[in-house]
Formats: sequence, C-alpha cells, structure tokens
Amino acid sequence: MNRYRGVRTAVIVGAGIAGLTAATALARAGWQVEIAEVGPPKAPSGWGLCLTGPSLRALDEVGLADACLAEGYGMSTITHVDVDGEPAGEARLPRLIGARRPAMVGIGRPVVHRILLAEARRCGAVVRHGVTVTAVDHERELVRVRLSDGTVRQVALLVGADGIRSAVRSLLGLKASLDFHGQRVWRALVPRPRWATGIHQFAGKADTAGLVPLSDRQAYVFLTENRVERSVLPDAALAPRLRQLLEGFPGRVEEIRSLVAESASVVRRPVLTALLEGAWNRGNGVVIGDAAHAPAPQMASGAALAVEDGLVLARELARHESVERGLHAFVSRRAKRCRTLVETSVAIAGLEQARRHHEAYPLADSCHRLMAEPA
Ligand SMILES: Cc1cc2nc3c(=O)[nH]c(=O)nc-3n(C[C@H](O)[C@H](O)[C@H](O)COP(=O)(O)OP(=O)(O)OC[C@H]3O[C@@H](n4cnc5c(N)ncnc54)[C@H](O)[C@@H]3O)c2cc1C
Repeated sequence: MNRYRGVRTAVIVGAGIAGLTAATALARAGWQVEIAEVGPPKAPSGWGLCLTGPSLRALDEVGLADACLAEGYGMSTITHVDVDGEPAGEARLPRLIGARRPAMVGIGRPVVHRILLAEARRCGAVVRHGVTVTAVDHERELVRVRLSDGTVRQVALLVGADGIRSAVRSLLGLKASLDFHGQRVWRALVPRPRWATGIHQFAGKADTAGLVPLSDRQAYVFLTENRVERSVLPDAALAPRLRQLLEGFPGRVEEIRSLVAESASVVRRPVLTALLEGAWNRGNGVVIGDAAHAPAPQMASGAALAVEDGLVLARELARHESVERGLHAFVSRRAKRCRTLVETSVAIAGLEQARRHHEAYPLADSCHRLMAEPA
C-alpha cells in the first residue's frame, strides 16, 4: 500500500547503475523524476562487469535480469587456481533467480547502462546530460536544487547517485572516508577462450589475475596489482605493462596473456573504497550507491548494492507517510549490509597484499553467502 501522499517530485544526480534503477523504481511508484548526469549522452565506454546473484535478483525485480542475461554471458562457477597452478577449489554460487537461470552474468558496462537507461526513460524519467548540481538548500519539506545550467528545482526528494566522489554528498555536508588500498586493478577486453565458461581466478606470487566471460565471443582479463603507489601510466604503456604483470603466473594465464592486444580496451584504476561515517541523508536529500558505500572491486558486488539501493529506496518511501520517515527506514535497512560488504572487500584487499590468498577465498565466499540473504 502507498502511504506517502505528499508531492512526488525527485531530482536524481547521476545516471549510473544506482541512479537509473532508483529512477525506474520511483517513476513506477508515481514519482516525477528528473536525472542530472554530468557526462555526455553516449553510454560510458570501458570494461565489463560481473553481476553476481544479488545484482541479478535485484534486476529481476525491475524486470531486467533476462535482458542482461540475453546480452551477457550467464555462468555459475568461480574456479580458483593456486600459485603453483594447481586447482584450489571451485565455488558454485547460489542461483538466486531460480535453478533454470545462472547464478551470475558477465556483461559489458555500456550494455548494462543502455538497458537501464532505456527502462528509466520508458517509465517516464527525464534524463538531462551535461548537467550537474551546484547548490542545495532545504526548505521545510522540500529541497531546492540549483543546476549548473542556472535552473532551479524545488522537489520533495534529492538523490545523490553520483559515484564515489559524490558532489551531492559534499553539498549535503555528509562525511565519508575515501581510502586508497595500495592496489590497482587492471581490466582488458579479449576474445573469450572456449574453456572459459565461468570465472577463473589465479593466485600469482605477487598479484591476482583472472578471466570473466562477457559473451560467446568476448571476455575480460582482470588483474589486481599489489603494493603500488598512485601513479599514472600513458595509454600506450598499458597493454605492454599488463602483459608483463601476467608473465609470472602459472598455467592458463600464459594463454590469456597472449590475448591482451595493443588496444584502447586496457584500463588501470586505483582500488578506492568509500564509506559514509554517519548519516546517509540530510533533510530530504540522500546519497545511494557508490556515493554512500563503494566497495573494492574484489567482491564484484558494488552493482548489486547500487541496484538494491534504488529498489529499497522507492519501496520505503511508499511505505511511509513522509519522505523523512521513508529515508530513515531506507537507511536503517541498508546501512549494515553495505558496511559489511565494504569492510569485507577491504579485508580481502589486505589479505591479497599480504599474499594470504587462501584466507581471502573463504572470506569472499562467506560474504557472497551473506549477500545472498534478501536485501
Ligand atoms: C575497475 C572496477 C571494476 C568493477 N567491477 C565490478 C564488477 O565486476 N561487479 C560489480 O558489481 N561492481 C563492480 N565495480 C563497482 C561498480 O562499478 C560500482 O559499485 C557501481 O558502478 C556503482 O554504481 P553507481 O551508480 O553508484 O556509481 P557510478 O557507476 O560511478 O555512476 C555515477 C554516475 O554519476 C555521474 N556523476 C558523477 N559526478 C556527477 C556530478 N557531480 N553530477 C552529475 N552526475 C555525476 C557519473 O558520470 C556516473 O554516470 C567495479 C568498480 C571498478 C572501479
């Protein structure tokens, strides 16, 4: 039952996974939604994503899991290989959307973005590109939002879904820790080897590497580089450096290494995490997704939290008589789960740095089991 009877107008800042899911869920609940996205209309380029069970389950609730499965590569196993190239176990992940559908999907980031954007628009959300928010004021039960094109909105709800370096978080005066963990993650798009029908993860002497299928033809190589300073490499140096880092691994990594070509598809990012230190909202402004809790990529679960946030936000707003109460209920339901995931991902990053991979695997598995509990 919808108990909220107030004005249903919202500005969402950021058209990423969290912002687009929240837009769809709110628009379906009768909200008039406008999204301000600083980037251009073109879908973000780049590497692939592994959407784990909780992501698929949340996407299924929005009716989009099958679209993602149709365009990505469904799979259910993670095969671990130890530093000597010996099998170190196979994790069979729970199939959260039924035994007939896979446990997770590897998919291109631009593909997920296109699917989510099309649905948000179909539900009536208006997306404005090249626009950001420059000021926020609270006026009784409304939020006054000034946009970078000089226009002003007075709305019942402001959602900051603007990623790990969230501007809305700062404008609302919310405090977050933003930490670098001495690691860099690499991603490179490669042709999918025929044997790669699930995720393969290889523990090297210094680093961790692996492969995630994205479609029948494509996969992405991932590598986590340990004990590195924050530094920038020129684009032309990325592919040769990644091939060099893959040299020390045993077994099938040699084959994967030969697939990394000189191409623009190689990316290298610092491992950063963010976690709000206190409240997620001020007045009727709230932050969600990476803006509130950005885990290290090792758990491949940031997208799950982002999609779940959008769904739970719309649900809790509908269940309460005021936005304030709805936001309070939303944060109460989300805070512990999100904190656990971020903290576990940080612990895994630490174990990898200490080369204690055998301790990291069970920690990741137990966190995957926790994430399999309903959001
Ligand atoms: C290398 C890497 C690999 C990853 N792999 C995985 C994976 O395999 N599986 C997984 O689940 N997660 C993965 N993650 C995490 C996942 O990408 C994030 O958790 C997820 O994208 C968070 O979604 P979001 O919408 O909160 O933020 P984002 O995806 O960052 O989207 C934020 C949006 O806001 C826009 N924006 C930013 N600032 C402003 C502003 N001031 N005004 C207006 N708009 C703004 C941005 O342009 C963007 O469109 C990975 C992360 C990294 C870095």
